[in-house]
Amino acid sequence: MDWKIPLADLDIGADEIKAVEAVLESRWLTMGAVTRQFEHEFAAFLGVKHAFAVANGTAALHLACLALELGAGDEVIVPSLTFVASANAIRYTGAVPVFADIASLDDLNICPSAIEHCISKRTRAIMVVHYGGFACDMPAIKTLAEQYNLKIIEDAAHAIGGELDQIPLGCWGEIGCFSFFSNKNMTTGEGGMVVTNDDETANRLRLLRSHGMTTLTWDRHQGRASEYDVVMLGYNYRLDEIRAAIGLVQLKKLEFNNQRRRHLSRLYDSLLRQENLPVILPFQNYRGKSAAHLYPILLPAEINRRQVMEMLKARGIQTSIHYPPVHLFSIYNSGDKKVSHSLPLTEEACRRELTLPLFPGMKEEDVSFVVSALKEALEGIL
Ligand SMILES: *Cc1c(COP(=O)(O)O)cnc(C)c1O
Repeated sequence: MDWKIPLADLDIGADEIKAVEAVLESRWLTMGAVTRQFEHEFAAFLGVKHAFAVANGTAALHLACLALELGAGDEVIVPSLTFVASANAIRYTGAVPVFADIASLDDLNICPSAIEHCISKRTRAIMVVHYGGFACDMPAIKTLAEQYNLKIIEDAAHAIGGELDQIPLGCWGEIGCFSFFSNKNMTTGEGGMVVTNDDETANRLRLLRSHGMTTLTWDRHQGRASEYDVVMLGYNYRLDEIRAAIGLVQLKKLEFNNQRRRHLSRLYDSLLRQENLPVILPFQNYRGKSAAHLYPILLPAEINRRQVMEMLKARGIQTSIHYPPVHLFSIYNSGDKKVSHSLPLTEEACRRELTLPLFPGMKEEDVSFVVSALKEALEGIL
């Protein structure tokens, strides 16, 4: 489908192509100097001690769970209003995701008091997701974690470049996880990063990423090592040099592009308010610096969302839904996996949520066009 205004669009150009060519010409394609450089610059960008490039964001989340030694018998509290990978990564280890409700229809992030309600003797960790690039209430969640001796994993797939209280998102908990999938704020095609300030956790992440081996092919190629031991059951979750080269270029564009995303989001806010449309604009009271990954709105409860999406589609505007709630998917909602807590706010937000197009190359006229098409659609239906 040829959209007039797609939901998201890449910012990939000559610099990425040049960087990829340079890697191909170097004749070293697997994890090596370029990946090291990418990790180094990513860590510096966040001001974090350790960063490990990985195959994708889901691998980052899986490694985070493994590095914290989560497993059978453990519970991890996680929102249901997220991409399914957050909960799946917990399940990979044998641990059980326990879904907590969101704060409100104005704050679509996990609710600290709902988290506290979910804590049991088996709870070991909280996996927060900074929905759309907006931070969860990390001060309150950190206090809870300290009080109950729980670890925090941040799924910061939406949140690269976002901050709360001057602390970058992904650096609030024990481990931060990022995705560079093609629709994220920066991309390598597939790719991800896992970060931590803890040396011991970093050691485990390094080993787990590459078969539990004590040296890498790169080290042996460099003549730095000729033997290796295998000290834990690791995986091959490495990134390659081609993707790392793309990532280095994308990282340089990130701040500028995030600024543009925030600018366009504010324009949406003001136009939607000006038109006085009967929609809820979440995160209006957000006090941090958002990564503005998504522009979500909540439609009136009585309206048929499909119909709105179809009417926008007829105008060439692509929209999406973030997300169908994870706790209602078959694999989380049948047999002994059935969830016990009810999540009324998550379910209502998921029924009403509509994600409007947002990407750095979007023009201001495009935002106006989307808002007037939405107005027309709502007036036509209501
Ligand atoms: C994209 C995303 C992931 C998974 O990242 P991949 O790189 O696609 O594996 C995990 N959690 C959230 C919230 C995401 O948006």
